[in-house]
Amino acid sequence: MKITDLKCAIIGNHPVIRVVTDEGIDGYGQIQLTKPYLKPQVLFYKDFLIGEDPTNVERTMLRIRRLGAFKPWGSGVSAIEIALWDIAGKAAGLPVYKLLGGKIRDRVRVYNGAVRFPLAGHTPADYADVMAKMKASKEGFTIIKQAIGYHGGQFAHSPDLAYNEWQSAFRFPNRGPLTEKGLKYVIACVEAMKEVLGDEVGLALDCGPGWTLPDAVRLARALEPLNVIWLEDLLTGDHTPYVIADLYRELIQKTSTPIHTGEEIYLRQNFMDLIEKHAVNVIGPDPEDVGGIAELKWIAEYADLHGIMIAPHGIFDGLIGLAAQVQVGAAMPQNYIAFEYPIGQPSWWYDIVQGLPNPVVKNGFIDVWDKPGLGIEINVEAARPHLRDEDSGFFA
Ligand SMILES: [Mg+2]
Repeated sequence: MKITDLKCAIIGNHPVIRVVTDEGIDGYGQIQLTKPYLKPQVLFYKDFLIGEDPTNVERTMLRIRRLGAFKPWGSGVSAIEIALWDIAGKAAGLPVYKLLGGKIRDRVRVYNGAVRFPLAGHTPADYADVMAKMKASKEGFTIIKQAIGYHGGQFAHSPDLAYNEWQSAFRFPNRGPLTEKGLKYVIACVEAMKEVLGDEVGLALDCGPGWTLPDAVRLARALEPLNVIWLEDLLTGDHTPYVIADLYRELIQKTSTPIHTGEEIYLRQNFMDLIEKHAVNVIGPDPEDVGGIAELKWIAEYADLHGIMIAPHGIFDGLIGLAAQVQVGAAMPQNYIAFEYPIGQPSWWYDIVQGLPNPVVKNGFIDVWDKPGLGIEINVEAARPHLRDEDSGFFA
């Protein structure tokens, strides 16, 4: 089998990748909802792939893997990798999880990062309110993640909370020390949320990046009695193009609260420092940023050897990404916690991506399905009305 074409269309806000072969089998991958600007980068890889046998996934990936970088620049390589596994599975007549070593679980736990209710304000009571709504949501999530601190924009609402002036630009530019009021405010919000969840639903907190080490230590220690599942990206993280594992190592040695990072990191090599230095307790690579699903599985195994857990990021991965997460999640080692459940946005995505369970999430889990490849069908007629003019040949 040979690759004859690599196509990319923007559908909704997602770049969608289609790898076409000379045997009538094609494979799909998807880039996050937040990255429509990456289509030109995807097409850059086309010349490297034409003529390769896509069922030799690793040999094909060796041609492009070095041509990516930390979030957002690993997405094209990652989505192509997922599309290659889709083809390899369809060609073999097997679900992708079989090609990744087979499943060790029949249902995959997810955590809630995407099912949201608007905050009425910014008080601890407002955070408690949205937490009650998420706890009652039909998916029955067993873990809910909430953005707080720099990640949640909490210090934008008063100049008394952090010493640096708030910058309202995208992609988390803020960083620096908090005032005592700021730290107490964040802690009060977490206490209010835990009051609602009790010990029935786990609470994870996406915090930064941008905290100073002393503030991060104070927060993590103050929250120790609350048993939160993890504190994410306190120091570096989302859209930070470096890791600084030594800082994280200092933080985790000073607290029993689990510390998490890694959604922006590209490739196994860039996880070496965090993992080998035992610098965090949980890592959260996103299969659509890290280099794909076999890359994610490899990192999970290596983390497991070092006593580190894994909770893959995925909020914006879309429904093709959801299918990829379920395939790899089924085959993850036992250090797996849950992946971040993405929803179809807009909802017409559920007409395009067919074959998902209905409802998708039951009691906080997704049942693993057994159809070949990613195990989903793309309904071309449902997708066609959403194609842009310049993408009209996407399904040709
Ligand atoms: Mg995050």
